[in-house]
Amino acid sequence: MKLLFASAEIFPFAKSGGLADISFALSKALNKKNSVTAIMPLYRCIDKTHYDIRSTGECFNLYFWGVSYDIELFTTTIEDLKVVFIYNELLCERDFLYGPSTEGYEDNDLRFAIFCHAIVEIVKRGFFEILHLNDWHTALAALLARDAGVNTKIIYTIHNLAYQGLFPKSSMVSTGIDPKHFRMEEVEFYGEVNWMKAGIGNADAVTTVSPSYAVQIQTPEFGCGLDGFLRVHREKLTGILNGIDTKLFDPSTDPMLPSTYSKTSKRGKSVCKKRFFREIEIDQSTLPLFIFIGRFVEQKGLELIIEAIEEMLKRPLVFAMLGDGEEKYHSALQKVAKKESNFHLHFGYDETLAHKMYAAADFLVMPSLFEPCGLNQMIAMRYGTIPLVHKTGGLRDTVHQIIPRKRVCGMGFVFDKMTKEVFLQSIDDALELYANRSKLNSIRTFNMSCDFSIQKCAKEYLKLYESLL
Ligand code: ADP
Repeated sequence: MKLLFASAEIFPFAKSGGLADISFALSKALNKKNSVTAIMPLYRCIDKTHYDIRSTGECFNLYFWGVSYDIELFTTTIEDLKVVFIYNELLCERDFLYGPSTEGYEDNDLRFAIFCHAIVEIVKRGFFEILHLNDWHTALAALLARDAGVNTKIIYTIHNLAYQGLFPKSSMVSTGIDPKHFRMEEVEFYGEVNWMKAGIGNADAVTTVSPSYAVQIQTPEFGCGLDGFLRVHREKLTGILNGIDTKLFDPSTDPMLPSTYSKTSKRGKSVCKKRFFREIEIDQSTLPLFIFIGRFVEQKGLELIIEAIEEMLKRPLVFAMLGDGEEKYHSALQKVAKKESNFHLHFGYDETLAHKMYAAADFLVMPSLFEPCGLNQMIAMRYGTIPLVHKTGGLRDTVHQIIPRKRVCGMGFVFDKMTKEVFLQSIDDALELYANRSKLNSIRTFNMSCDFSIQKCAKEYLKLYESLL
């Protein structure tokens, strides 16, 4: 099967979150038995020399809104996967993938329209049987492909319904969308253009990243205004649980760790913890280490963390946070970091530090308000770190409450209310577990034997592609 997998970010070239991880892991897994080409923009931050990215020598022009946009194609191969990069100055020459703040660049509609038009051009040239599009950045390609008479089967995956690609009506023309599509049944959304509607409406199959999220997004509470539209298209909507790249996230071989370890020999995990405490200059390595890694946004439960953090830190534990996001959360957390000696805060995006933290930690805190799938909890369990999660979306599908004499793959602490009291109770439950070393060790070992690999997910996608062909 010949497949084009389009994503705005693919690890290791450019990553802002889980989309990059899953785009690489899934296209690589699918490529084992199929011919997959992954496609993404050639952002300025991508190190062309390091990844041996070369021009293919192919250039073409895209015309829309009376303007011509030059496209140059680049390519490389990584772990047998062919990756094609789209280069256009307006799309690629920026300091950030999407923008310096959560608002994004003002011309993101035009930037990603260029990407979408280019994807369609590649599909037309490449005789692909399947076009797999991901999130809002590539959603428009589904509509453009239909308008261009392309009959390739299209799969559209929603990784996060909260980011829909909403733009003013005037953007229809500048991005080259035929004005006839500005209807409620198509891309119109309360007077604006909604790219996700273009993806959902024009794809042959729509997936999202966990079975629970597939159900949740059809309700007003989680549907972000699109629940009605999704219910109209529910026949083609399924939830396929994401997985992780177990080669990349493997504590027994991870080159970023000061010491490797496995489920049968965990000594290296204590070494990682000691080294991490030394690095953050906290001399308390007998205390349990709780971590948070992720975007500092409301979705990830930052309101709850800020509400509960002072009381949490009164307990015998160390809490370390790594991430970036909204200014209001930065300043609130910074205030706490200044006065509490058992709290470590690291702003920014740091892949190596993230790996070291997964390995060093005893517990991962993930109180997401909603979570399409979430990869952190799966990575944490692979590293023998026990997750504390809010029972929502993919967290609900991958983490099960620890109860005596019961083992279900993925064990941790699952709370069903986003209140400070309930959250702190789960912290206390984790502290109780920490005090019982043999039980803690047995749950760690069990979680480390669970299969969170991308292979299962890839199999489901293959079944879906085959059903469409
Ligand atoms: P998201 O909603 O942000 O995509 P996911 O849980 O699906 O969240 O995936 C997050 C991925 O990004 C994981 O691989 C996680 O380790 C990584 N990550 C998130 N924030 C950071 C950070 N500040 N530094 C390094 N890695 C990060």
